[in-house]
Amino acid sequence: MLEILQHSPAKAQQEDKREEYGLSSQQAQGILEKVGENVIAEKKKSSGMKIFLGQFHDVMVMILLIATVISVILGQYSDAVPMLAVVVINAFLGFIQEYRCEKTLEKLSEMTAPTALVCRDGRFIRIAASQIVPGDVFKVGSGDRVAADGYLISCKGLQCDESLLTGESEAVSKTVRTNEVEFSSLNKSYMAYMGTVVTRGSGLVLVTSTGKQTQMGRVSGMLREIDEGQTPLQKRLGELGTKLAAICIGVCLLVFVAGVLRGEGIFNMVMTSITIAIAAIPEGLPAAVTIALALAVRKMLKRNALVHRLHSVETLGCTSVICTDKTGTVTMNKMTVTEAIGADGEDLTTADPEADERSSRLVRCAALCSNAQVRQVTHSKRKPQRFEAQGDPTECALAVFCAQKGIMADELGYERIDELPFDSSSRSMTVVCRGEQGVFSCKKGSSEVIIPECGYELTAQGEAVFSPERKLAAAAVTEKLASKGMRVLAFSEAVGTKVIFLGIMAMQDPPRPEAAAAVAMCRGAGIRTIMITGDHRLTAAAIARQTGILKEGSLVLTGDELDRLSDEKLWEMIDNCSVFARVTPDHKLRIVRALKAKGHICAMTGDGVNDAPAVKEADIGVAMGISGTEVTKQAADVILLDDNFATLVSAVENGRTIYSNIRKFVRYMISCNIGEVITMLGAILMGLPLVLLPTQILLVNLVTDSLPAIALGVEPAEKSLMQRKPRKSTDSFFSGGLMGRMVIRGMLIGICTLGSFTTVLRLTSSIPHARTAALITLVLNQLIHVFECKSEEKTVFTVPYMSNIPLILAVLVSVFVLGASIALPFFSGIFSTVVPDALSLTIALMFSLIAPVAAAVASLFK
Ligand code: ATP
Repeated sequence: MLEILQHSPAKAQQEDKREEYGLSSQQAQGILEKVGENVIAEKKKSSGMKIFLGQFHDVMVMILLIATVISVILGQYSDAVPMLAVVVINAFLGFIQEYRCEKTLEKLSEMTAPTALVCRDGRFIRIAASQIVPGDVFKVGSGDRVAADGYLISCKGLQCDESLLTGESEAVSKTVRTNEVEFSSLNKSYMAYMGTVVTRGSGLVLVTSTGKQTQMGRVSGMLREIDEGQTPLQKRLGELGTKLAAICIGVCLLVFVAGVLRGEGIFNMVMTSITIAIAAIPEGLPAAVTIALALAVRKMLKRNALVHRLHSVETLGCTSVICTDKTGTVTMNKMTVTEAIGADGEDLTTADPEADERSSRLVRCAALCSNAQVRQVTHSKRKPQRFEAQGDPTECALAVFCAQKGIMADELGYERIDELPFDSSSRSMTVVCRGEQGVFSCKKGSSEVIIPECGYELTAQGEAVFSPERKLAAAAVTEKLASKGMRVLAFSEAVGTKVIFLGIMAMQDPPRPEAAAAVAMCRGAGIRTIMITGDHRLTAAAIARQTGILKEGSLVLTGDELDRLSDEKLWEMIDNCSVFARVTPDHKLRIVRALKAKGHICAMTGDGVNDAPAVKEADIGVAMGISGTEVTKQAADVILLDDNFATLVSAVENGRTIYSNIRKFVRYMISCNIGEVITMLGAILMGLPLVLLPTQILLVNLVTDSLPAIALGVEPAEKSLMQRKPRKSTDSFFSGGLMGRMVIRGMLIGICTLGSFTTVLRLTSSIPHARTAALITLVLNQLIHVFECKSEEKTVFTVPYMSNIPLILAVLVSVFVLGASIALPFFSGIFSTVVPDALSLTIALMFSLIAPVAAAVASLFK
């Protein structure tokens, strides 16, 4: 390894001779086995065993185990065996669900793990940062997080933010290593350190240490794995579960004491109390919420939205404002130069550079001042020549245009001696070249930056002084093109102290076809869309108008105007602003804060390294999967794999769907549980025998409660979902009268089950018959109610039954299990049921229909 680290930097500086540095895959594999992965903290993976054992950490399971032990001690094996079976089956089912959920989350974290562009076998490939080993060479560019410690073997204008290690907030300029040999201390300008962020420029790093050996590894106390914790909803529901459990334990104790005082047998009363406890505790709830959220994450991934944290799924549904970039998100990011205008206003789009000096210098400047790689794709003499380019879309458009004019940077014979890379604050890029006529520089950027800097312009008569009037005229040309929605770039050339304006080029970047519909959908859903862009105000306004973001009466503000506004004024105005143009990332942060101060739940997109603070500050930070930098992706809650605005809107829709589905199954589970408790308590208060035996209650809880509840978690979105206002994040989970509905329905279920039990008991004088009838009524009541839970607006007679096939299957399985537990002798033995006679069955069925009919009739009078 030593010889790799002693690698000659002089050799490596010749960036194109890639085979001269880096490792082969085989070498890398060997080193990886010796030094281990490039990670600071080993990721805690939950093993299958741990998940399985975790199933027994549950109040219901504990109660059941205690009950089993008591039954065994008292020799009541007929109770003990089914209870034990239930515990094991329950643990097994829970295990399968949780394991799948865990795998989904693991896959997600793998997908969002940092990567690096590493040279292996002489080629640069993107690999997981954890696989980097000492001796590797990797590329860094603006917005990357450095993946390991190493020295620089080449760099261009490289600056890193090392505040994480040094606390120093100013970015540090980096230089190439010459012959220094100190690789293991901080504050070395020739070193790039793991975890620090590249704020500007680019470079090549030869890795000297990885994982715990890096500077970051040594201070790794700072970087403990962030504990994901539970989402607010999970916490709230967990609290609800605890409260219900506490109430229920109180009730059980009361029942137990009352029963014993009344002279009932102690074992009997223990069993009765335990049965009530099992009936009341919504034990499946937290797991069901986690599973529903994880399923939603998987669904969103299929639609190109990668959600980092479960928490975000919930917040997505409350989004009230979406702040979106323009280029690539609302527009296609497919740019084509359609106009080239000389400094004197002459249209040079079709001019021949060989015949016109203005065209020749403008096109040469555009070709030189670009990092796009252009190549010819059609070579036929008869067909028009076609070119393709790779790199930044703006530069690609320019390079293709120049190539069509017969000018390619590589063929011009100039040596590029320096570059000031583009960044969104300077809105320009400069390249310094050396040619036969000496050193000169080419610059391109926004016309507001370029035009004021120029003292001369290139006209048909040659270079002339660029007068203020001429500058105004040039700016007017820019505005005319920008107001058509085009992106405009201005070009200048500097020789010595003379800066000459060469002209402008305008390119089209059409809106994405789906953008306007997505904006309209947001409007219908009470969500405002705001466009925030670095582009010209008129370009931004035109695109915003075409997509419906900018309507009559809304404002377009520029970054300069924003600077002049106080925070209070911005707070007052922000609800009226639909477009912010010529903004820098700092402005984005101000905009997010103003929106949040107004009480909005704000989603903010970003791609550049400087966008990360705003993305982090937003309630939902959104990073671009294609154009986004590593740092922004790490800061984001959601990554749009296709950079598309419509994808974000569909993620919001999914967020709403899942929240409403969670409400649906919580409604179902809690009303069923209330129904069961009322049944059991009512019987004791009325001096009746136990209505349902522990095994019967277990059957209900395990099958007919949980299967349909899980299926409710995957309900498709209701049509009206995106026509409602966004819910407030402060809204109670049970808002809109949900709690009342659950209690009333629970009581109805309980009363009907009791009614069925007492009627059959009176008619047949047989407790097993009465219990079987009560079981049928309870289960059918629940299975009908599950359809009502599909919608908060419709009744059981108007909901779309077939919209959720898993639910239909869950209900069919439940009916089948109920039938089998009664009709098959083996199961009827376990569950102490009997085959009902026709009369008992009719009574049981009638009592099952009372509640839904009553609810439907009540809804008519609303
Ligand atoms: P957003 O993606 O946020 O909608 P944007 O991509 O239009 O914004 P920037 O990329 O920050 O914004 O560009 C801002 C301005 O900088 C552009 O309007 C253009 O004038 C100029 N510009 C863009 N790309 C380059 C480049 N490669 N070289 C020089 N100038 C550029």
